[in-house]
Amino acid sequence: MSSLSSSRSSQAIVIGAGFSGIAAATELASQGVDVVVLERHNHPGGRARVFQEAGFTFDMGPSWYWMPDVFEAYFEKFGSHVNEELDLVRLDPSYKVWFTGESLDVPAAFESMQVAFESMEKGAGQRLADFMAEAKIKYDIGMSEFVWKPAHNVLEFADWKTVKQATHLSLFTSFSKHARRYFTDPRLLQIIEFPVLFLGAKPEKTPALYSLMNYADTMLGTWYPMGGMHEIVRALVRVAERNGVQFHYEQDVASIDANQGKVSGVTLRDGTKWKAETIIAAADYHHVEQHLLPAAFRRYDATYWDNRVMSPSSLLFYVGVDIRVPQLKHHNLFFDTPFGPHASTIYDDPAWPEDPLFYISAPSKTDSGVAPEGHENLFFLIPLAPGLSEEEGQREFYFNHLCDRLESHIGLDIRPHIVFKRSYAHAEFQEDYRAFKGNAYGLANTLKQTAFWKPKMKSKLPGLFFTGQLTTPGPGVPPSLISGEVAGREAKSWLEVGN
Ligand SMILES: Cc1cc2nc3c(=O)[nH]c(=O)nc-3n(C[C@H](O)[C@H](O)[C@H](O)COP(=O)(O)OP(=O)(O)OC[C@H]3O[C@@H](n4cnc5c(N)ncnc54)[C@H](O)[C@@H]3O)c2cc1C
Repeated sequence: MSSLSSSRSSQAIVIGAGFSGIAAATELASQGVDVVVLERHNHPGGRARVFQEAGFTFDMGPSWYWMPDVFEAYFEKFGSHVNEELDLVRLDPSYKVWFTGESLDVPAAFESMQVAFESMEKGAGQRLADFMAEAKIKYDIGMSEFVWKPAHNVLEFADWKTVKQATHLSLFTSFSKHARRYFTDPRLLQIIEFPVLFLGAKPEKTPALYSLMNYADTMLGTWYPMGGMHEIVRALVRVAERNGVQFHYEQDVASIDANQGKVSGVTLRDGTKWKAETIIAAADYHHVEQHLLPAAFRRYDATYWDNRVMSPSSLLFYVGVDIRVPQLKHHNLFFDTPFGPHASTIYDDPAWPEDPLFYISAPSKTDSGVAPEGHENLFFLIPLAPGLSEEEGQREFYFNHLCDRLESHIGLDIRPHIVFKRSYAHAEFQEDYRAFKGNAYGLANTLKQTAFWKPKMKSKLPGLFFTGQLTTPGPGVPPSLISGEVAGREAKSWLEVGN
């Protein structure tokens, strides 16, 4: 190794090129800070990486483009425009829900959704409007103000109280109770409760303030960037580089170094040292705090982490078939079995589920570029408890189970048509992202793990900050972008006054 490569420096280092890391670096660079991103993989995106095989382009993680306003504001802020960077289409229907013996295309237009709700439960059309009006207030306040707080102390959130007193919003009651004040039909409840499943906890354990997610899903729409979700990553990297960020791949950080009681740089697994005045850790919080940081500077211990409610892991299948599957839409939720027993295996008594709910994304419905002509690109997802161990043949068992269930709905067995298949679960999440217990979406947004009660953005080691889906504001692509921007601001303040 040359002496040049064994010791390098930058004013700021960001560990990890997922959404939060790219955003943090862009925030710093846009404020004139010299910043490098060190990423262990050979391309950016983190959980939103991509791979190509047999003529298919598979997005590895996120498939729902929600909260378009967050992306718009992001590109605007960093000198571009979302329409210059992405070719977005609004999906209609937004998604399809498969119940036992029937299915519903959930339309993009709100009035049509009201009609669909009314047809399933008398009065539900108007109640949907009432529900959304309340959710909108939460979304507007939450997204304009509260998600942008670094959550250093609880006083930052004192205003929620004022808001609650003034408007009687449902904030801290359970989401499940809140939804039942409006709807009774189990199908409607499933539709209303599904967006909060993204937050990683049961609706009973999720605070009602997160009905803002319903506003995002229903009123702001479900979108898709042509080319695939990874196009977002490409766009973010372009914008970051234009702002001056430098990306370095295959840089596996092995430790965070301290000198005279503050952060001084990192050491890579190959021994290379990088010096910096500030570091933003955008890799999984648990991995960084427990494995990269000297013990004296850890705020949390193993017991703390064991007591966290992690959001689910997932069993994923990336499947290419040599036929079109006309019955499927772009997003398909299979709610054809009761969620209760499955939810119990995720959140109460971790186990492999018997009859799981599952999700299929078929981006080739919208985008002919992600599959060869006449083929379909299918992504299967079963949410699972984090930390499960796996037995030989288990993945195949579940894949066959899903194919049987799909066949029972559409009358077609896709198995003879498979030309490519790859599975992904806990072991890969652990290996690829050093994900604690193989979690997919970070930390669950339960009441006790919201805002101020999440792992802190600011480390005990001065000059080190955390960002990403395990800290504020939480899991999901838009929150990760916001998290990165907030951490970038914090690191910039540190460079100005704290250093
Ligand atoms: C299957 C799945 C489906 C999802 N669906 C959606 C969806 O539809 N919509 C949505 O909004 N969100 C979705 N999410 C959530 C969303 O993808 C995440 O919240 C978001 O991508 C997290 O970004 P991040 O920056 O926090 O972390 P990550 O994307 O995990 O990035 C962390 C990066 O750090 C790197 N790294 C780790 N350790 C080191 C080290 N020691 N040295 C150097 N680099 C390191 C990793 O390689 C990785 O690139 C989904 C997630 C998954 C897994």
